[in-house]
Amino acid sequence: MTGPLLRAENLRKDYKLSRGQKLRALDNVSFDVMPGEVLGLVGESGCGKSTLGRCLLRLTELSSGRITFDGQDISFLSERALRPLRRQIQMVFQDSYASLNPRRRIADLIAEPLCVHRDKNGCKRSGPAIQARLAELMNLVGLPVSALTRYPHEFSGGQRQRINIARALALAPQLVIADEPVSALDVSVQAQIVNLFTDLREQLGLTYVFIAHDLAVVRQISTRVAVMYLGAVVELGDTDTVLHTPAHPYTVALISAVPEPVIRHAASRTLLHGDVPSPISPPSGCRFHTRCPHAETLCSAKAPDLHLLSDGRLVACHFPLMENL
Ligand code: ADP
Ligand code: MG
Repeated sequence: MTGPLLRAENLRKDYKLSRGQKLRALDNVSFDVMPGEVLGLVGESGCGKSTLGRCLLRLTELSSGRITFDGQDISFLSERALRPLRRQIQMVFQDSYASLNPRRRIADLIAEPLCVHRDKNGCKRSGPAIQARLAELMNLVGLPVSALTRYPHEFSGGQRQRINIARALALAPQLVIADEPVSALDVSVQAQIVNLFTDLREQLGLTYVFIAHDLAVVRQISTRVAVMYLGAVVELGDTDTVLHTPAHPYTVALISAVPEPVIRHAASRTLLHGDVPSPISPPSGCRFHTRCPHAETLCSAKAPDLHLLSDGRLVACHFPLMENL
């Protein structure tokens, strides 16, 4: 049996603010991603999804914890030592325009990672090997090869996201971390791009960490789901298990906010009141207790550990919703 492709252990990220304050954006986050899996990361805005994505890629430095990629500890590797690994892990972002230099042609934009990672002999962008690879990538993402000579502004948001995906795939990575890659697109286009991610995963044997705040999108693409609240994972398990029989009251609330019948579940509707507390001074005990309809005295006194339930999911709650299990 092979091990996980990616392992996150006790990840912690504190942002230092002015006046000695710190903001804990990630608090003890742990999970495995097996080869070929799609781990969906969900949670309200500000819960730490992008910070987690960036830490996994080492674009943001961790405060503590360990990240293992393909058996190798990459948590604090130097930039130089990271270089050969950089091609194995790629990222796709939400804003399809910001990541594409508007003054460069699509061919140059997609060839760039190929050239950056070339040896010292340099990169011949007009060379036949690169040209063939560019054509192959355009085919993979469903764009005509003729589009290679055009500029980013000539494309729609969905097409630009296809270009970003081609760029991410240029070096044939094993893992793609996608941070809300369809959130800025129209619903009909979202479905096409989610389907493209799914097809590419099957075709190329890719593994994804797929960040989204839209549960319908996450349900469509993920094999497992991690639900985050205020920097911590509060529930983690198979997509069907978590989204159809949620055990954490916060997961129930997230699902309640989705119009049916996109996701049906047995739980009664729970609507959250109040704002998400500040991560600068999170609540004592269970971080969700201030908004939880089921909170008891224990919840404000003691933080629940993420623990395994009999159906194989993990949940951080003193009183998981057993009627859903
Ligand atoms: P999400 O992607 O889930 O919306 P983020 O990871 O962007 O969440 O943010 C998590 C928390 O960290 C938020 O409270 C945000 O304000 C804070 N944060 C993000 N980036 C920085 C930064 N560079 N400096 C200080 N605080 C930050
Ligand atoms: Mg984000």
